[in-house]
Amino acid sequence: MLQTMDRLHIVGGKNNQTCILCCSQNEIHDHLFFQCHYTRSIWEAISKQSGIYWPNIQ
Ligand SMILES: [Zn+2]
Repeated sequence: MLQTMDRLHIVGGKNNQTCILCCSQNEIHDHLFFQCHYTRSIWEAISKQSGIYWPNIQ
């Protein structure tokens, strides 16, 4: 299981749930992998370099 900030908050390890990549949203699984603008820029770069098209990347 991925220890995102929301999960670390639940188990008591972190009080701040903000995404460390964009500092604008809570870091939950969906945000970290699909919604974060920083992560999306990385997915888009990988897509362009590899020529692999992922339809969920807008
Ligand atoms: Zn983010």
